[in-house]
Amino acid sequence: ERQPFYRDTWVEVNLDEVEKNIHNFQSWLPDETQMMAVVKANGYGHGAEHVARVALRLGVPYIGVATLDEALALRKTGVTAPVLVLGYIRPQDTKLAAEYSIALTVFQADWLDQASKVIEDDDLINCHLKIDTGMARIGIRTEKEGHAVVKRIRDSKNFQLEGVYTHFATADELDASYADEQKNRFDRMLRWLKKEHPEPIKYIHAGNSATALRHLDKVYNMVRVGISMYGLTPADEIAEHLPFELHEAFSLHSRLVHVKKLSAGEAISYGATYQAQKDEWIGTVPIGYADGWIRENATQGEVLVNGVRCPIVGRICMDQMMVLLPHRVEVGEKVTLIGRQQEDMISVAEVARRLGTITYEIPCMISYRVPRAVW
Ligand code: PLP
Repeated sequence: ERQPFYRDTWVEVNLDEVEKNIHNFQSWLPDETQMMAVVKANGYGHGAEHVARVALRLGVPYIGVATLDEALALRKTGVTAPVLVLGYIRPQDTKLAAEYSIALTVFQADWLDQASKVIEDDDLINCHLKIDTGMARIGIRTEKEGHAVVKRIRDSKNFQLEGVYTHFATADELDASYADEQKNRFDRMLRWLKKEHPEPIKYIHAGNSATALRHLDKVYNMVRVGISMYGLTPADEIAEHLPFELHEAFSLHSRLVHVKKLSAGEAISYGATYQAQKDEWIGTVPIGYADGWIRENATQGEVLVNGVRCPIVGRICMDQMMVLLPHRVEVGEKVTLIGRQQEDMISVAEVARRLGTITYEIPCMISYRVPRAVW
């Protein structure tokens, strides 16, 4: 049962758009390349469970998350499909992962030694060996390190190697040279792994959204798609170089709760930093930095009211902000902060540019306090 909410500020998530994006990836990718739907961080703020269910219905075989908590949360909503934790889990929590059939990323021999102590005889854990080919985040970097990890997996009846993977640092840039280097290193490590572990490994994966969109030479038999499943471009630099159109699923809305006329010289909000130039109609919108609508949004930020762009004026408060209206507008009128109204649209990418950041951060930063209407 979904929680009812009593607030005129909300996120809409249109799952039809997610479905279109997944379809497009499935048509675009080679037949042998499957998708992993990455739904970490509550599905990049869109709702992990809903997005995972759409992906699974469309035949996506694997779900990716960042933490064990996220994996367990999916299990608790009844998702039974394979789920991989892409980050580190504490070795002492491995028993829990086994109990809920969560696949784990492995890259440390010590971790396997510690994890072995907490699991029981009939536990079986699917492991994906992470190889660091140039991201320097997590993963084994040398054959020696790899040998210590793979030997422990082979010697144990509780661990089995289901996958091997790496992650590209620059797949979202036009220049492919660093990604090419990483691929070469990965291929070299795959040749080594074949000797170390001659039994076939089911999943070999390296790519994120940008790789899946732009580097079909680096997709192996699975790609881990996050940002572009939600219809967002990984980076402005490649926005004009995509093989198909992406459909944004996320939008953010509110309603005017108060409208008043200010006279020239009258000021708005903390610090009284904005003063009306003449008679101005000012609307109050019930969203603020506690909703993740951070203060920096006031710098050249706009919202849509009746399809018209209205500047944010004065400082954004914790729970409210003010906008400059072109004329008197009724209380209750819809305000769109991200998304479409009539002929105009404020995209996630526009807000990201305004804040000097990447698309990923925007839906993630809209806080738990803003209810998600998902359909
Ligand atoms: N794989 C790993 C290991 C990740 O950390 C991420 C997210 O950053 C992804 C895949 C998904 O990447 P993207 O959202 O760019 O598709």
